[in-house]
Amino acid sequence: EAVVNRIAAGEVVVRPANALKELMENSLDAGSTRIAILAKAGGLKMLRIEDDGHGIRADDLPILCERFTTSKLRKYEDLSSIGTFGFRGEALASISHVAHVTVTTMTGSDECARVAQYSESKMLGPARPCAGTRGTTIVVEEMFYNNPTRKQALSKESIEHAKVLEVVQRYAIHYPKVGFSCRKNSSSVSELTTVGGADVTAQAVISTIYGQNLARELFPFSVASEDPKFSCTGFASSPNYTSRSLTLILFINNRLVECTPFKRAIEAVYQSVLPRHQHPWVYLALQVDPAAIDVNVHPTKMEVQFLHEETIAQKLQETLLAQLQNMGG
Ligand code: ADP
Ligand code: MG
Repeated sequence: EAVVNRIAAGEVVVRPANALKELMENSLDAGSTRIAILAKAGGLKMLRIEDDGHGIRADDLPILCERFTTSKLRKYEDLSSIGTFGFRGEALASISHVAHVTVTTMTGSDECARVAQYSESKMLGPARPCAGTRGTTIVVEEMFYNNPTRKQALSKESIEHAKVLEVVQRYAIHYPKVGFSCRKNSSSVSELTTVGGADVTAQAVISTIYGQNLARELFPFSVASEDPKFSCTGFASSPNYTSRSLTLILFINNRLVECTPFKRAIEAVYQSVLPRHQHPWVYLALQVDPAAIDVNVHPTKMEVQFLHEETIAQKLQETLLAQLQNMGG
């Protein structure tokens, strides 16, 4: 059974950036206002996510990493209409099958924090009291220690690190009010720092991360419709900005996802206004009916499908094209 679990886990957690995405989503679900990330050796040696969210109750610690343990699934019907990101209770279980996991947590009503260690879904010994502040810190060490083939395939730490940083950057843009940081070592300077706070905008974060050259060339857009019901806001680059590759940052119902038809739709709009082989930068925040979305298309939960995909993409294209042509004069 252990082997089967490990194989299944390896499909959910393909690389450190996948684990990080799941852990950051948990931190965001917990209402955190600050999330600090430490990724050593591209996250393969250590990945640490420290948040100031509502914490985990002591009673929940023993089964925390068991499959289908989730505090977010209230009743069966919730499966088809998820409000929070998590709904399968599979992330921590999967991570505990491919790495050593240590959880330190404290709720608002706890007198002290508690620390517990996990391996292959099981808590190793009882949770111990320790010093701490409200929130949760999850440390994931030696990822793929039990899977040499996978580890070999990910031998380039710099590539893994770039993917980790990209996930943090994208969440930082989508959650401008949350303060994010990302370090390679406890002592090194953060490669990304956003301040968070009520008055920080997505545009300000984009400017911090990508610089004025991009931020200056962005225009905001928004589209909405009742039938099919959806709303979409975002920022897209004007024809003055060009890049050798497309950047499409896509959040659907507040999760970072990939959607190939959407990517194609965006590329098609810009083809008519950009020189050949040049590409735009686009950030999209789309809200659709949660019941209409299928996030289980790919085990890493990145590629999604949803109802009315084509109609929504078309409406988006019309809006973007109209704005781009307006700029052209
Ligand atoms: P899911 O998010 O699908 O519920 P996970 O395996 O990602 O499943 O997490 C399991 C449970 O652990 C969550 O439902 C939540 O109760 C708890 N949890 C995990 N991380 C945190 C965190 N950073 N803060 C508070 N609770 C957390
Ligand atoms: Mg989760």
